[in-house]
Amino acid sequence: MTNLQKLNQSIQSQVPSVDKLLRQDAVVELMEIYGRQTTTTAVRALISETRSEIKENGQKALEKLSVQNLSLLLKNWLEQYSSPSLKLVYNLTGTVLHTNLGRAPLPEEAIEAMVNVARGASNIEFDLSTGKRGDRDNHIENIICELTGAEAATVVNNNAAAVLLVLNTLSNRKEVPVSRGELIEIGGSFRVPDIIKRAGAKLVEVGTTNRTHLRDYEDAIGSKTGLLMKVHTSNYTIQGFTHEVAGKELARLAKAHDLPLIEDLGSGTLVDLTKYGLPYEPTARETLSNGVDIVTSSGDKLLGGPQAGLIIGRKDLITAVKKNPMKRATRVDKVTIAALSAVLQLYRDPDRLSERVPTLRLLTKPENEIRKTATSLIGPLSKALGQTFSVSIISCKSQIGSGSLPVERLNSAGLSIKPDGQRKGTALNNLLKAFRGLPVPVIGRIQDDALILDLRCLDDVIGFEKQLIKLDL
Ligand SMILES: *Cc1c(COP(=O)(O)O)cnc(C)c1O
Repeated sequence: MTNLQKLNQSIQSQVPSVDKLLRQDAVVELMEIYGRQTTTTAVRALISETRSEIKENGQKALEKLSVQNLSLLLKNWLEQYSSPSLKLVYNLTGTVLHTNLGRAPLPEEAIEAMVNVARGASNIEFDLSTGKRGDRDNHIENIICELTGAEAATVVNNNAAAVLLVLNTLSNRKEVPVSRGELIEIGGSFRVPDIIKRAGAKLVEVGTTNRTHLRDYEDAIGSKTGLLMKVHTSNYTIQGFTHEVAGKELARLAKAHDLPLIEDLGSGTLVDLTKYGLPYEPTARETLSNGVDIVTSSGDKLLGGPQAGLIIGRKDLITAVKKNPMKRATRVDKVTIAALSAVLQLYRDPDRLSERVPTLRLLTKPENEIRKTATSLIGPLSKALGQTFSVSIISCKSQIGSGSLPVERLNSAGLSIKPDGQRKGTALNNLLKAFRGLPVPVIGRIQDDALILDLRCLDDVIGFEKQLIKLDL
C-alpha cells in the first residue's frame, strides 16, 4: 500500500456511521419533516458523496459532515428530492400556446372548479334529479351545444383522441378520402395518415399537394367509403396556385352519398377572433353551419381550457361515438370536466372574454403594455447579470403556437441579453442554464447569439424580478 492509499484509508475511517449521524439533533429535526426512510437515504447519499470526495480532496472533504454543514446540506438535498419534477415556469419563449410548456394557462374560475371537485366525491356520473346513474358528458354537453349550435357533443382526453375515436367509430374497415394538401403532421407524432390507420380505416389520398377539386373526392367515393374528412391545416399554409374544396361544397357531396363529413379543426375557437383584433380562425359554429357533421378540436389551444378533445355535431353520430368502447379508454376525469365547464361558462359573456380567459388576454396584450414591463425590468436584470452581458429592450414577434395560425405574428416587446467578451457560446449556454435553474425556471429563446425574453406572457413581474438575485452565473 502506498502512503497516499494509507492516508486515504485513515481519512475514510473517520467518516461517521449512518446511525451516528441520524442521532444528531439537526438530523432528528429533519426526520420529523421528511420521515425516517427518506432522511436515512439522504444521510447515506451524503456519506457516499463524502467518501468519493475524500479521494480527490482528502481531509477537507470531511467538512461536509461537520455539525455546522450537515444540517444545511441535508436540508437542501431533501428539499430537492421531495420537490415535484413538474412545476410552474415562466414561458418567455414568445409562443403563447407552447405544447412543451403546457399550452393554455387556465382562468381562475377553472382553477377553483378543479380544486373544488378534486377534494371530495362529486356527481360526475350521478343524476341528482332522478338518483340514477348519469353521464359525465351531461356537465358540458348542453353548454357546448349552446355555444356552437350543435345537436350533441362529447369530450375526450385530447384532440388526437377525438379524431381517432370518431374515425374508429364511423369508418372502421372503411375508406377515408383526404386531400393530399391536408395530410398534416402536428409536432409530436400526430400524423393524419397514421391516425387513420390506427383507427382501423384506410386512407385514400385525393387531389394533389396544392390543388384538390370536388371531382377528386367524387372519383374516390365508392362502396367502401366510410366518411369524408377535412383537416384544418393549422400549422402551415399552402400559397400560390392552390385550390381546396370548401366545407360547404364537400358537405353537399357527402350528403348526396349519404356519408358523414368530419372536420378536424385543431385549435377550434368558439368566438370570432377578429373581434379581438386577432387573425381569423374558423369557429366550430361556422364549420357546422357549412354542413359539416362532426367537428373535432382541442380544449387547451385557442379555447384556453384544460387538455381535452371536443367532438361536436350530429346527434346520431355523437351517440355512436359515445357507445364505442374506445370512448371509455379516452375519457376525461372530473377535474378536466370541472375546468372545461368553468371555461365554457366564460364564453357566455364574450364582451369580457379577453379579460377572463388568460390565453385570449395574453394574445391580445398590447405591445405598449409589454414594452412597459420591459422598461421596468431592464435595470434589475442588468444588475443581476453584471458586467459581462449587455441587456437591451427590443421589439419582437410572438406567435400563437400549438399549430394555430402559423403565419401570423403578434407585435411584442422583450429583452435581449447578449454576452460580451470571449467565449460567447459558453457564456450563453451558462446563462440559459442559470435561468432554467431558478426556483421558477425562466425559458426564453435564442436568436442571433442572444437570449431573447419575450415578455408577452409575463404576468407576475414582481415574482420574476424578486428571484433574479438567485441567478447563479
Ligand atoms: C393540435 C392539433 C391536433 C392534436 O390535438 P391535441 O389536442 O394536441 O391532441 C390535431 N389536429 C390538428 C389540426 C391540430 O391542430
